[in-house]
Amino acid sequence: MTASRDERIADRARHPKWKNSPLRIEMLECINCDKCIAYCPPQFGAIFKHGIDVVIVPELCSGCDKCLPVCPVDCILPFPEWATKGSPVEWWREPGGADDPYT
Ligand code: SF4
Ligand code: SF4
Repeated sequence: MTASRDERIADRARHPKWKNSPLRIEMLECINCDKCIAYCPPQFGAIFKHGIDVVIVPELCSGCDKCLPVCPVDCILPFPEWATKGSPVEWWREPGGADDPYT
């Protein structure tokens, strides 16, 4: 269950075995350089351009931290509250869609 990225996208559910908190992007500090998108491993594929913003979908983010060192303004932060705050529904337009950078 929720083992593959496609399944996680279909279920909109995080892998239950991921122990690390997902990350989030502080939008007020992000300079929209898009660098982090390429550093998210494709098996997770959690970072997307969303309009003018760059966002991390927490249900797809394993907390592997590979995106952290590439951010020039250090605006990628832990998101332990993800389960209660959740992803806005519109963030699910990109994962698995025609413009998904990880497929
Ligand atoms: S922590 Fe890992 S999975 Fe999450 S957005 Fe960064 S690179 Fe992707
Ligand atoms: S690397 Fe940092 S500044 Fe650049 S898009 Fe990602 S979060 Fe924003």
